[in-house]
Amino acid sequence: MGEEINKPEYDFPDELRGNIAITTLDRIYNWGRRSSVWPMMFGLACCAIEMICVAASRYDFARFGMEVMRPSPRQSDLMIVSGTVTKKMIPMIVRLYNQMPEPKYVLAMGACASGGGPFKEGYNVVSGVDKFIPVDVYVPGCPPTPQALLNGLITLQEKIDKQSIRTVRWYKREASEPIPIPVLGPDLIDPRDIHLFDATRSSVEKPDAQKDV
Ligand code: SF4
Repeated sequence: MGEEINKPEYDFPDELRGNIAITTLDRIYNWGRRSSVWPMMFGLACCAIEMICVAASRYDFARFGMEVMRPSPRQSDLMIVSGTVTKKMIPMIVRLYNQMPEPKYVLAMGACASGGGPFKEGYNVVSGVDKFIPVDVYVPGCPPTPQALLNGLITLQEKIDKQSIRTVRWYKREASEPIPIPVLGPDLIDPRDIHLFDATRSSVEKPDAQKDV
């Protein structure tokens, strides 16, 4: 392995071999971010207990540079959605997501966060947090084991490894657009779907208009 590393594809004088490291800006940039992901300290339901296990000594995600769970979204770059996402809770989750600075990532932990889980048909449950915020990694299970969450965190690191400083969204002009906060009324309304209400209303009103003619 050591010999492979010491065989670069570039020509170097023999006396310099072993003293030169070749890397790219992307690799250094990604290495710094993937080795210091700070998850936000919040949990929603039973999955949060497993998340807490991963932070404790037996599984210990400090090994990945992630031990600094932050109690403030302003200092976090990973949101682990650990538990059932209710319609009452999603406005707060979206607000927390908006308050996180870029670069930021979301991990949907468990069946509930990924798609509603056992409560999918419930009147008060959102069928997956990805209906409102972008999710980078899904971890299946009810609840996922600590090992499964660790695997999800490693998957996120691998995703970060593949990003390029030239194409990441947070350097694009439209990156800082916040996601509209869902409105909790008789049911949950996503402000981005308002045009659907308008379209429905106009299609309902059309027969009356035709009648007048
Ligand atoms: S996926 Fe299962 S363990 Fe996790 S929050 Fe939902 S019901 Fe609880």
